[in-house]
Amino acid sequence: RSGFVALIGRPNVGKSTLMNQIIGHKVAIMSDKPQTTRNKIQGIYTSAEGQIIFVDTPGIHKPRTKLGDYMVNVAQNTLREVDLILFLVDAKEGLGPGDQWIINHLKEVSTPVFLVINKIDLVHPDELLPLITRYVELYDFKEVIPVSALQGNNVSRLMEQILRYL
Ligand code: GDP
Ligand code: MG
Repeated sequence: RSGFVALIGRPNVGKSTLMNQIIGHKVAIMSDKPQTTRNKIQGIYTSAEGQIIFVDTPGIHKPRTKLGDYMVNVAQNTLREVDLILFLVDAKEGLGPGDQWIINHLKEVSTPVFLVINKIDLVHPDELLPLITRYVELYDFKEVIPVSALQGNNVSRLMEQILRYL
């Protein structure tokens, strides 16, 4: 199995940390450079079960400029071209306008989307279900996977689920 996966989410939800956890330091450092080309490969994960090619999706956040509008269009096209989208959110921050904005854009593409709830090490387990409920009311996610990108909790399960969809 192999395929392209886009990792999206508001700033600071832990996208780079998750890439670090999955692939290693070098790649996530690269991904923090300003992006100018589209569909830039962020990292490649290889295992016995298959290969996952993570592509960067710059600009999938609310634009403030004309250039921002253009970047959103580019991002939208990337989301159409990949096999799977990982929508990363912050369990501690919860659902806010930034997440709502991204969800509205997800509704315009037919690519399957996983909801990846990050930073579960910062919340009580009882808070997780109400949080998940708020998100799944807004969008029909194919899978919902709580993780801690920092500590690595449940990341192997995330990888298994991704490989099932490729
Ligand atoms: P990005 O902007 O989406 O790439 O977010 P980063 O990966 O740069 O992470 C933003 C901040 O959140 C950093 O201080 C990370 O250490 C922290 N962070 C990321 N994942 C986790 C997590 O699972 N648990 C905790 N406690 N902090 C996290
Ligand atoms: Mg980052």
